[in-house]
Amino acid sequence: MEDGVAKGVTLRGGEHVDADYVISAADGHTTLFGMLEGKYLSKPYQKAYESYPLFPSSIMVALGLKGDYSGYPHESSPYFKEPIILFDGSSHNRFNLNVYHYDPTLAPKGKTLITVMFNTWEGEKWQQLATDNPKQYEEEKSKLTKEVLARLEKIIGPLEDKVEMVDVSTPHSVIRYTGNWQGSFEGFAPTKATLSKSLPKTLPGLKHFAMIGQWTTPGGGLPTAAKDGLDIAKKLCKEHGKPFTSKLS
Ligand SMILES: Cc1cc2nc3c(=O)[nH]c(=O)nc-3n(C[C@H](O)[C@H](O)[C@H](O)COP(=O)(O)OP(=O)(O)OC[C@H]3O[C@@H](n4cnc5c(N)ncnc54)[C@H](O)[C@@H]3O)c2cc1C
Repeated sequence: MEDGVAKGVTLRGGEHVDADYVISAADGHTTLFGMLEGKYLSKPYQKAYESYPLFPSSIMVALGLKGDYSGYPHESSPYFKEPIILFDGSSHNRFNLNVYHYDPTLAPKGKTLITVMFNTWEGEKWQQLATDNPKQYEEEKSKLTKEVLARLEKIIGPLEDKVEMVDVSTPHSVIRYTGNWQGSFEGFAPTKATLSKSLPKTLPGLKHFAMIGQWTTPGGGLPTAAKDGLDIAKKLCKEHGKPFTSKLS
């Protein structure tokens, strides 16, 4: 930034990329509080980051199984009388079960990818554990896998000798891969109060800069993120007197 105008992006390695206009589609918290060092925080964003509830983060156990499992529904949410208690203290009577027998890109012929997913607002605990005690973090993932396999066996039959791949993602993994604040999978949650509050795409005191994506619209999601891209392109074209054409508009 120079004299209240965004001038470009400095990459991690120190390289500077000049720009006439900077649009951040990255994580909103990192953009405002990290890249912009909290210098251009406006009241709506201050309020949002202080008080808006978030979509949760997620834990996913992905299993590569021998067999095609084509008789099972793509998606279900089985109920368990006895809840699964996660390491982070959250209790789950259900998990989201996806059986990807219809998607040949996810497993070789005759094999199937199955995912089991839990939501949690306790992402910080997974973050802390992975940082402070990586060995226990790995143990917790193994423990959860065993628990999930035991529950799954009651639904899809014996799994002994069927499991060829296991990959467990926790909120720590989500943060590591996406940089999303608190590992949230969709940003600010829609509530009666937040849905009517659209957040500005620009910031006071910083010209030639905009933010787009899930952290600028409570409720988040793919459609709003895509539309934001379209809208900012239109706005810039208008400002520069250029015609805007798109197959999407
Ligand atoms: C499992 C799951 C299921 C979902 N299901 C649905 C659904 O059914 N319908 C729906 O509408 N939405 C769904 N969503 C939510 C949807 O995916 C998001 O709301 C949407 O992708 C947000 O788009 P975005 O462009 O704002 O952010 P993102 O897609 O998160 O993109 C942000 C990009 O910025 C990058 N980035 C972050 N920080 C930095 C940084 N510091 N520097 C550089 N780059 C950075 C990230 O790597 C990423 O590529 C789901 C999300 C998940 C995880």
